Amino acid sequence: MKTKLLSLCIAVYQEEEVILTFISEVTKELERLQVDYEIIFVDDGSTDKTVSLISEAIKDNTQIRLIEFSYNHGKQAAITAAIAHAKGGTLLYMDPDLQDPPHEIGQFLKKMDEGYDLVFGVRKEKKDSLLNRLYSKVFWSSLNTYTGLQIPKGLAVMRMFNREFADQFLSYKEQNRFIEGIFMRIGMNYTTIKIDQEERRAGTTKYNFKKKMKLAFDAIFDFSELPLRLAVSFGVLLSMLGFILAVVIFILHLSIIDFKAGWPSLITAIIFSTGLQVFFIGIAALYIGRIYLETKQRPLYSIKRTYNLDQ
Ligand code: UDP
Ligand code: MG
Repeated sequence: MKTKLLSLCIAVYQEEEVILTFISEVTKELERLQVDYEIIFVDDGSTDKTVSLISEAIKDNTQIRLIEFSYNHGKQAAITAAIAHAKGGTLLYMDPDLQDPPHEIGQFLKKMDEGYDLVFGVRKEKKDSLLNRLYSKVFWSSLNTYTGLQIPKGLAVMRMFNREFADQFLSYKEQNRFIEGIFMRIGMNYTTIKIDQEERRAGTTKYNFKKKMKLAFDAIFDFSELPLRLAVSFGVLLSMLGFILAVVIFILHLSIIDFKAGWPSLITAIIFSTGLQVFFIGIAALYIGRIYLETKQRPLYSIKRTYNLDQ
């Protein structure tokens, strides 16, 4: 029996080595499960053969659609575009590198049938380098502490949600899109299931250290005012210290010490406090930069071409 349409939303960037394997494995599984599906690939500005491989695949399978971005916008924008063009009543978001195995799709569908709006996959165990695991641990735990978002531990990319959830997601218009943050903020009825996690089947990770740091940075700045609060607390603390110091110095000066030879300590204090001020102004400036970006309300992405997509 065919169920209602399932839309797979997939961001791809330089995935020529793995994309055909992904298509063949995922379609095999979807056919085995006998679900009505469409696969919406959003190519995030690949310069390799990714686009031509997918557009060739469309000739054999008209359930595949492709949106080609003009240039690399980042995965967050790509996945947003895929969700925006999905027609299904149920949506599945996964990566094409087969780290999230297609054999788990059935489990997600079953869980959705229980009436959840969103089902998150969490990793049984994370197969990743020590450094990456450490990064994830620090990143996710500090995020939960500082933003209050309560993101489930060991979150995988793979997750399934319904049309209502997708529409809520699309109503978030922010330019800096920290997807996990938005997903948690929507706060509909969600649950998690444990899924297998495999090694990337081919190709290399598109998230280098710099991109990862940007993501962490975005998450903190978009979902918390922690840096601003810290700046204020530091400021208050320093003024209090300064005041106490002034009183102590005044008393000492009256009683025992002659402070005439105080130039080095004075200059040190000036440099130190100027540095701190610039640092905190910098934090405020980062927020202002983000406000500026948001107020321009530019479109989130620019599409170069679409394949097999009726508007
Ligand atoms: N990706 C993207 N745009 C980018 C970087 C990555 O669309 O600028 C896609 C990439 O093709 C992959 C997914 O995002 O499908 C996750 O990237 P990757 O597997 O390289 O990250 P990792 O799993 O190593 O964290
Ligand atoms: Mg990956």
